[in-house]
Amino acid sequence: MDFDAKEILARNGIEHLAAQKGPLQVRTPIDGRVLANLDVATAQHTEMAIQNSVKAFKEWRTVPAPRRGELIRLLGEELRASKAALGELVSLETGKILQEGLGEVQEMIDICDFAVGLSRQLYGLTIASERPNHRMMETWHPMGPCLVVTAFNFPVAVWAWNAALALVCGNSVIWKPSEKTPLSAAAVQQIFERTCARFGTAPAALSQLVQGERERGEQLVRDSRVPLISATGSTRMGREIAKVASERFARTILELGGNNAGIVCPSADLSLVVRAVAFAAMGTAGQRCTTLRRLIVHSSVYDKVVSEVKKVYEQVRIGSPLDSASMIGPLIDKGAYSSMVKALSAAKEDGGRVFGGERVYAELPDAYYVKPAIVEMKKQTDIVCHETFAPILYVLKYDTVEEAIALNNDVPQGLSSSLFTTDMREMELFLSAAGSDCGIANVNIGPSGAEIGGAFGGEKETGGGRESGSDSWKAYMRRATNTINFGKDLPLAQGIEFGV
Ligand code: NAD
Repeated sequence: MDFDAKEILARNGIEHLAAQKGPLQVRTPIDGRVLANLDVATAQHTEMAIQNSVKAFKEWRTVPAPRRGELIRLLGEELRASKAALGELVSLETGKILQEGLGEVQEMIDICDFAVGLSRQLYGLTIASERPNHRMMETWHPMGPCLVVTAFNFPVAVWAWNAALALVCGNSVIWKPSEKTPLSAAAVQQIFERTCARFGTAPAALSQLVQGERERGEQLVRDSRVPLISATGSTRMGREIAKVASERFARTILELGGNNAGIVCPSADLSLVVRAVAFAAMGTAGQRCTTLRRLIVHSSVYDKVVSEVKKVYEQVRIGSPLDSASMIGPLIDKGAYSSMVKALSAAKEDGGRVFGGERVYAELPDAYYVKPAIVEMKKQTDIVCHETFAPILYVLKYDTVEEAIALNNDVPQGLSSSLFTTDMREMELFLSAAGSDCGIANVNIGPSGAEIGGAFGGEKETGGGRESGSDSWKAYMRRATNTINFGKDLPLAQGIEFGV
């Protein structure tokens, strides 16, 4: 586990942060060494951030949207130039392999490109009026400061998904990153500030960073000057935010936990299944919201699929995420490891047969590397219905496709799902109203690794929010319906006569 953490911080221009003596201790999951003790925002700093964000919003909302898009175009350019360094920092701070760290930065670049185009496409409708000499139309307006709360596992991409859209839509942004990944956030904030300097006329404090534990997030969620909250993280967090936000009727975009299944049908192309399962279940050490957690296999191919998948699991290379040979890095921390151990023992109690799951590199006491686990289950018990944020793949058997779809849907979460088949009827059923109840339903690819062009998010305990592509931008704006009378009479809607 040989690497120079200082060099990685320096390549991102944040080496000075290592000298701080604040209360937020940041460790790399690679070997558990301390990277920095960061200063955090106080309640007063956060109050100032809100005030400044309101000010920035009032200026930014009057800037034409295509000009706002120009800022995001420049941000995309800066991110392209910083991709290698930032990808490495993400890898250092989260433990995801370098390929995935770079992929995360690419996702930021992709959403910038999308948002630049969007800045010229914030369309409203023109609607036929029932009244003579009247015209109806919809206009879309920015909302105000947009709070973006992010999770540790996508420490930079989720900010970009939100910020790129929020900013072209004319909002200001306040970012509360995960307390586990504040360095990646600090590096991105610097890139954003550099972009603003190049742009020249962006208001000060257009997008700000509020570092700290969850109470900073709570303060921002309570504040009625923040009309829009986009929060990514656990269902527990989403439940807390939803309660507070609904009290004050704030708009929320919630992106919470997933418990994603893949159904393998008798006609599936098995070589494709095995490769898809490998990435979807083991990638990011099982720490993606869209990680494949349940494999539902037809009884006719069950033994073959399970034995092929086990072979791949045996060959997978676990090691430092900065080493290009590694396919799986460490879990984020001890808490994640304990959850995995607990889940495996609960699964065993429920009759599950466990393959893998052991800790490796135990000579590193503060790093938590594990062999990914496969657990064959007779039934979808409580533990299978729970999202354990670790590489555990539960395998279940089915006999009819209806039964498989019922298992897919019979969990509290509704983020992503996939079906492997070459049978058109099964595919269409899975994608129909009687099929998968998730926000994402794929065929012949795994449930993870979404492209930014589509709307991203899920149903039920996943929170119902949509981010990224398609028409997700509408969540970042308020809609006004306008009726214009260009005649000399005042006809009332519904033909109402009012005698004055
Ligand atoms: P977490 O819920 O512990 O923390 C996420 C963020 O929320 C952090 O910034 C934290 O400080 C903040 N927070 C926590 N409680 C809060 C509160 N009451 N008010 C305001 N802010 C609060 O999640 P995590 O462990 O960092 O991330 C893993 C979870 O995130 C998993 O459940 C995963 O599925 C989910 N996730 C979902 C998506 C998605 O798009 N659906 C994407 C990534 C991660």
